[in-house]
Amino acid sequence: MPGHNDCGLPPDLFAAACRLLEELTAISSASGDAAGLERAAALLARELAARGLEAAVSRGLPGREGLAALPVLVARGAGAGESPLLLIGHLDTVLPAAPPRRQDGRLVATGAVDMKAGFAALVGALDLLARRGVAPPADLLVVAVPDEEVAGELSRAAVASWGAAARALWVLEPGEPGSEPGAETLVGGRRGMFGWRLDAHGTAAHSGLHLARGRSALLAAARWCLAAADAPAPGAPAVNVGRLVAGDATFVDGLATAHAWLGTDRQLNVVPDRAVAEGEVRFTRAADGETAARRLETLAGEIGSATGTALAFSRGPTIPPVDPRGPQRPWCDRAVALAAARGWRLEVEEERGGISFPNFLPDPGRVPVLDGLGPVGGGMHTRDEYVDLASFARRIVLLADLLQADAAARG
Ligand SMILES: [Zn+2]
Repeated sequence: MPGHNDCGLPPDLFAAACRLLEELTAISSASGDAAGLERAAALLARELAARGLEAAVSRGLPGREGLAALPVLVARGAGAGESPLLLIGHLDTVLPAAPPRRQDGRLVATGAVDMKAGFAALVGALDLLARRGVAPPADLLVVAVPDEEVAGELSRAAVASWGAAARALWVLEPGEPGSEPGAETLVGGRRGMFGWRLDAHGTAAHSGLHLARGRSALLAAARWCLAAADAPAPGAPAVNVGRLVAGDATFVDGLATAHAWLGTDRQLNVVPDRAVAEGEVRFTRAADGETAARRLETLAGEIGSATGTALAFSRGPTIPPVDPRGPQRPWCDRAVALAAARGWRLEVEEERGGISFPNFLPDPGRVPVLDGLGPVGGGMHTRDEYVDLASFARRIVLLADLLQADAAARG
């Protein structure tokens, strides 16, 4: 395997980690496949138990009987109490498994990079620590959820409950290739978001006889959308206008049937008195989200008075961001230095776009979050999904180095 032992990983430990990853990916565990997920969780539980953690697989979450009863793996170190070091990932995959195969320094397998390799790397890291004669942090709490790929309630609930008091959250999701060959990323921040809606009411009028008496809700909403989505500065909140429906009120409010008017000349002689726009805003700091919401609301007032229409802006619940300048910053820097000491370049992604585990923390600003700790690869969610085995080796060492540094920092 090219590059596997230039980063401080003994070949026998690398071989064992690869075997485990092959075994894990050979088990089909698509979201919703309870039996397959149970087998994958049982295998991982056995491996973690063999390394001194108290591991158990249960159906659903204790005390949350309303949630799906899919297998959740929880493995605790002897000192995992109220505020553990929480390591989290998911065992479900989008596709059912195809047989794994090795090819050109890669393991091509279902869920290889997203994200069974993250768990296999953790097991490899525990082996490497044992080889060094170093104990991992005693308050380790490893949780593997079964429904991340379907934005499942167990994933959200697990992070919300175990993450609320955790002293840190480490996420075993994959990193990405970095800016130069051989470089890889760690996720230091994730954008948060909220959905929004604009309701516009104008005045209908016959376009042939009384055009000037009409107040077009369509034109007002379009103006608002253009202003709202105006090219943001780098790092500023990004507004996406996802939908704009406008026309006369019977068309917009009765769209389920009135959509048949599209392509006909029905109501084309009426100044449209109704419009609805919907979209979302993504941002890296909680305060930026609030500023963006205020700007959109102000715009609605201004454009409403300028056009003689009523524009009402409303927003949905906020999913909080992970601020890249948050409490994880020193840990990100430490990870970068640890990688450099092993001869490779780790870069910090400041704002990954997708909503993921850390966004479900009750307060992501309180908890140091190290995300994207897993190895890189490609073809996620496809039949060509693979993990780069050189990266797999690097991440095993990085995880071991981080766990060792954490244990040392805690004395
Ligand atoms: Zn994933």
